[in-house]
Amino acid sequence: MILGNWKMNTWRNEAISLAKAVVQIPREDTTIVGICPPAIWLDVLSDVVAGSSTLLGGQDCIGDSFGPHTGCLNVSLLKNVGAQFVILGHSERRARFGETTESLVPAIIRSLEEGLIPVLCVGETLEQREACVAEKTVANQLRPLFDVSLDLSELVIAYEPVWAIGTGRSAKRCDIDYMHQTIRSTLDIDDALILYGGSVSPESAKDVFGSPEVSGALVGGASIDEKKFAAIVAAWESR
Ligand code: PEP
Repeated sequence: MILGNWKMNTWRNEAISLAKAVVQIPREDTTIVGICPPAIWLDVLSDVVAGSSTLLGGQDCIGDSFGPHTGCLNVSLLKNVGAQFVILGHSERRARFGETTESLVPAIIRSLEEGLIPVLCVGETLEQREACVAEKTVANQLRPLFDVSLDLSELVIAYEPVWAIGTGRSAKRCDIDYMHQTIRSTLDIDDALILYGGSVSPESAKDVFGSPEVSGALVGGASIDEKKFAAIVAAWESR
């Protein structure tokens, strides 16, 4: 699974041409490619990806029903404009808007109920890594999932060390292996889908995808460059 998080980038025309380029990226049937444009472009891009194997995703949502939630999007609205998955708990949302796994549990439950694949991001900051609490931090970010009755096998996790996001400094293979194993054993699901995210580029992809623990990537910066994103998909296919 290779997912592109476009974040708050792309004008309308750029979004359309980038999505058209992504649709053209060759891939095997077993490789899932998805894009998360700014929510405002989801509707128009659902026409662009229609009939293709490219999935559309939201960058965030809440678990509430319709109502007085200014500025928010719920699962039903994302589904209505063609999204098949949603990123939840990205570190940028955790840092800026105070989102926590606990606050996102309703969105996870609602996504699973309505058939939107939740991609939950977890990951430690540099301070936490240097204080040797990376493992504990990630385990704590997963813990609220066990307070409710959820089918965790339907959940995709993205391990995204905060210090690797947008820095050009991807995590080392041994750290990725270790943290993915930690996540897998915390979830207690052998075949859990665990993506890696953090400065995945055509250059770093080969090393990242060399890990048998990695089920794919959540790609930020490189996903808004069609050539780089295509090269990352190609690296996944030739791993
Ligand atoms: C991200 O923000 O999810 C991400 C992985 O960004 P980048 O690839 O730019 O580090």
